[in-house]
Amino acid sequence: MKPASFLYHAPTTLEEVLTLLAEHGSDARVLAGGQSLIPLMNLRMARPEVLIDLNRCLDLAHISSGETSVAYGAMVRQRDAERSEITRSGCPLVAKALARTGPVAVRSRATIGGTLAHADRAAELPGVAMALDAILVLESASGRREVSAEDFFMGDMTTAINPDEMLTAAVFPVAEPNSYSGFFEVGLRREGVALVGIAAQVIFGEGKVIRDARLAIIGVESLPVRLRSVEADLKGRELGAALIAQAAELATQAVDPIGDVHANARYRKFVAGSLVRRALGEVGDDLERN
Ligand SMILES: Cc1cc2nc3c(=O)[nH]c(=O)nc-3n(C[C@H](O)[C@H](O)[C@H](O)COP(=O)(O)OP(=O)(O)OC[C@H]3O[C@@H](n4cnc5c(N)ncnc54)[C@H](O)[C@@H]3O)c2cc1C
Repeated sequence: MKPASFLYHAPTTLEEVLTLLAEHGSDARVLAGGQSLIPLMNLRMARPEVLIDLNRCLDLAHISSGETSVAYGAMVRQRDAERSEITRSGCPLVAKALARTGPVAVRSRATIGGTLAHADRAAELPGVAMALDAILVLESASGRREVSAEDFFMGDMTTAINPDEMLTAAVFPVAEPNSYSGFFEVGLRREGVALVGIAAQVIFGEGKVIRDARLAIIGVESLPVRLRSVEADLKGRELGAALIAQAAELATQAVDPIGDVHANARYRKFVAGSLVRRALGEVGDDLERN
């Protein structure tokens, strides 16, 4: 099946995009990597009257790093971000999650802005954004605002982006010294969509004592879930087998999963606990190795 007819615009600057969005509002959709939007249009599950192609807007395709944060322009390709030395050294958890966002051919087209704006409940990068308290930059012809990941994700495929706005950048904090991270997931197929996934970053103080922990689960509820009760339990304590087992148990209590044709709620709850155990176990092993 082919998409319903639409008007096509290919602006070359952010300013032109924002003018078009102001003119067409909810009749328009922006096209980024097209890895989700084009299939949805072909299935006629999305029928925008106006398509605003961002692919010529080179001003949206930069990665810039500061001392404490890394800003990804919305049109940075996921594969470019994953392979960037800035990401690998400054935001290793972002690199680890992007290595899981589908086959390489898809990641080479799909964008940082696209996966965050699409907000699929099984998508990896929204989980990292939630875990690390990323800031999402939204712009319209009438201004710019910054929204925390917690306020940005509102449900499955629902975000705080207004019809006349677009996401222009995502800002992730640079990992502090002595940080260890991991992204793990369980899916039906390798490179397939995650049933459940975990983004975890732990900062150690003296020895094995945890100074800060950030964990978010994807795929279990309609949006990424921050495991705050687990984080609170970990802080100030020494990482070891008993603490990891307790964290896994707390995680199963903290989530209220949805069941679907791929996995029921009970299974997802079980996997959530297992992934917390795995992530913290790997973090502990990495710490020992260093
Ligand atoms: C075979 C296959 C496997 C995949 N596996 C995974 C996976 O395992 N994990 C995963 O996370 N994803 C997966 N994806 C999805 C994909 O990788 C992209 O993350 C996703 O398609 C969105 O990125 P995009 O740049 O292609 O956005 P598009 O498809 O162009 O857009 C998606 C939606 O976001 C909106 N949008 C895009 N950019 C912006 C912006 N800057 N501001 C406002 N709105 C915007 C569009 O209007 C549209 O509604 C898979 C896709 C395919 C085809």
